Amino acid sequence: MRLIIEENPKEIGKKVAQIIAEKINSADKFVLGLPTGSTPLPIYQELINLVQQKKVSFQNVTTFNMDEYIGLDKNHPQSYYQFMWQNFFQHIDIPKENFYLLDGVTENFQKEAEDYEKKIIDHGGINLFLGGIGSDGHIAFNEPFSSLNSRTRVENLNRETIVANSRFFNGNEEEVPTQALTVGVQTIMDAKEVFIVATGESKARAIQQCIEAPISHSCTASTLQMHENAYFFCDEAAIGELKVSTYRYFKGMTKF
Ligand code: PGA
Repeated sequence: MRLIIEENPKEIGKKVAQIIAEKINSADKFVLGLPTGSTPLPIYQELINLVQQKKVSFQNVTTFNMDEYIGLDKNHPQSYYQFMWQNFFQHIDIPKENFYLLDGVTENFQKEAEDYEKKIIDHGGINLFLGGIGSDGHIAFNEPFSSLNSRTRVENLNRETIVANSRFFNGNEEEVPTQALTVGVQTIMDAKEVFIVATGESKARAIQQCIEAPISHSCTASTLQMHENAYFFCDEAAIGELKVSTYRYFKGMTKF
C-alpha cells in the first residue's frame, strides 16, 4: 500500500489523470473501474482536458462503474448513469458500448449482479479500479460490516451515507434511495491496481483507519492493506488524523 500526498484536490486531479492516461496509452486495451461522487470530479475534468488535447483516447477503454442506486432509472438526474454521462462520458471519445453501469431498476437484482461480475471477467478483469472513500470508510457502497469477501449485490445504505449523499438531492434525505447495487469488496480486490482518492477533512478519520489501523470490516476500505498494488491519493486535509511519523514516511517517498 502506498500513500501519495498532494496539496489539494486540483493537484490530485492532475496527478491521477496523468497516471491513468499513461497507463491507457501504454496498453492495447484497458479496463477501468470508476466511481461517482465529488472526489473524482477534478480527475474527470483533467482526463477530459487530456482527451481534448489528444493526449489520450478512450476508444480502446472499457469502464465499469462501482455502483448504482436502486429505484432510479438511467434517465433520472441523480442516477449514477446520468452523473457519469454529464460529468465524463459525453465529453470524451469512449464508444457507447464500452461503458457499463449496473441497472438500478432491473427486475432481477441477483441476475444483474452475477452478470456484472461475469462481464468483468469476460473483459479480462479490471486493470485499474479508481475509487473514493466514504466518511465511514466504505469503498463503493460496501458499508461498514459488509463481508470483506463480498461481490456485486444489493446493499442497504446506512444513515451516514444517506446524510452525506443528500447534498445531491437538494439536501432532502427522504429522496435519497436507501439501497444500491454495488460491486463487492472482493470485486475491487480482484483489480490489478486500485487507486483510492480522498480529499477534505471529512475523510481524515476513514483514511486513518485504512492506513494505520488493522484491517476491519468496520472500515471496508482497510481491506486494501492486503492488495499488492493499492495506492491512496490524499490531500493534506484528508491525512489530518495520521501520525506525524506516518506522514513523514510517505512524504519521504519520491516516485509516483
Ligand atoms: P464523495 O463520495 O466523493 O462524494 O465524497 C465518496 C464515497 O462515498 O465513496
